[in-house]
Amino acid sequence: MRKTAKVVIIGAGCTGAAAAYQLAVKHGEKDVVMVEKDFLAAGATGRCGGGMRQQWSTRGNIRLAQRSISAFKNFQDETGQDCEFWEGGYLLPAWNEEMVEHHHTNIKLQNEENVPSRFVTPEEIKDIAPILDTTRMLGGAYCPTDGKANPFLVVKGWCERAADAGVEINVRTEVTGFKTSGDKVTHVETSRGTIECECVINAAGGHSGVIGKMLGLDLPVAPERHQILVTEPVKHCHDPMVIDLRHNIYFSQANHGSFISGHTDYGVQSSFNIRNNWQFPIQLSRKLCYLAPPLKRLKVVRIWAGLYTMTPDAQPIIGPTPEYPNFLNAIGFSGHGFMLSPVTGTILAELITQGKVTVCPIQEFDIRRFKDGTAGTREANVV
Ligand SMILES: Cc1cc2nc3c(=O)[nH]c(=O)nc-3n(C[C@H](O)[C@H](O)[C@H](O)COP(=O)(O)OP(=O)(O)OC[C@H]3O[C@@H](n4cnc5c(N)ncnc54)[C@H](O)[C@@H]3O)c2cc1C
Repeated sequence: MRKTAKVVIIGAGCTGAAAAYQLAVKHGEKDVVMVEKDFLAAGATGRCGGGMRQQWSTRGNIRLAQRSISAFKNFQDETGQDCEFWEGGYLLPAWNEEMVEHHHTNIKLQNEENVPSRFVTPEEIKDIAPILDTTRMLGGAYCPTDGKANPFLVVKGWCERAADAGVEINVRTEVTGFKTSGDKVTHVETSRGTIECECVINAAGGHSGVIGKMLGLDLPVAPERHQILVTEPVKHCHDPMVIDLRHNIYFSQANHGSFISGHTDYGVQSSFNIRNNWQFPIQLSRKLCYLAPPLKRLKVVRIWAGLYTMTPDAQPIIGPTPEYPNFLNAIGFSGHGFMLSPVTGTILAELITQGKVTVCPIQEFDIRRFKDGTAGTREANVV
């Protein structure tokens, strides 16, 4: 392992991989070392639903998602790796007038940012997603340019290209501490040696708060278990990802035919627990069969869990830490970090190589918002 590097990236999930790719391949900064305690995509990235949508309730999240989706679309051309990108759209049903109003408000905001979302009637929903029982729906929000991709292939594509460009990727290498001098982080200590560096990226997902603690920082992030299941595969019969905010569930059909579905546990508490409980497949299956009755016939083949990293406003923290300006966080993605990873990588690379960000405004993601009271409204479209 190298003993020095300009940039050390902690974590080889989609965020760390995007940063490595953007730094080395797109911004010419090849003196980069990545350290990962397990293996590529071992954290939330390899456990996620792979969905990507621009249908958010805050302008910040809409902008990040919109800029990222085009990167996923062009992924194969850019990296040579097929990431199974599928533009099947996202549908968010409305069950009462309050939800109709909620979707209309968000669609207006999204349209202002050039996202082609629209409100659809129950009849249109029947065309978009014939397996849904639309009897009690009043309509829904729909965006045809939302979609999904395979997180493992995304991380593989970015890491391979980054490694080709000179990035050293170290798996089974755990960050254990730091050395500092004044307000600078000077060294990253790992289970395989110490690396002297000019800059550090904290992309440690659910464990990013633990990394912060090693520097005496109390980062406003909370890990939270989220469970997910996969059914046996069937012939393709369903295009969009469905996110139902009322029943707190999402589901889509993967390229290989399986349905993938998850929800937020009732009364979920912050913890590092990623073990499943027996209630999950029962509760989830009930909701899934209520929404899409033909799925009753499917067998569940596997369940697993991973960590969301929540922030108080359910929007990420991206950028330098005031106490250590050369320690950059890309954390707190609150359940939507996969879809935001391309632009997150660009923001980090621009900050490091140019000292300013041109890809989109980033003040909403400044960590200081939680202390100085400038945090905006909480993102409402989270499941
Ligand atoms: C069930 C579930 C479903 C989800 N569905 C979606 C979805 O459909 N769409 C979407 O956009 N997002 C989804 N998410 C959220 C998404 O998975 C995360 O926001 C995203 O993967 C975060 O990526 P990351 O690279 O920042 O973190 P991670 O993928 O968690 O990567 C962090 C890495 O850091 C490593 N690490 C931690 N501590 C150390 C250390 N001390 N030293 C070295 N390495 C360390 C970990 O091993 C890990 O590999 C879902 C999450 C879950 C759990």
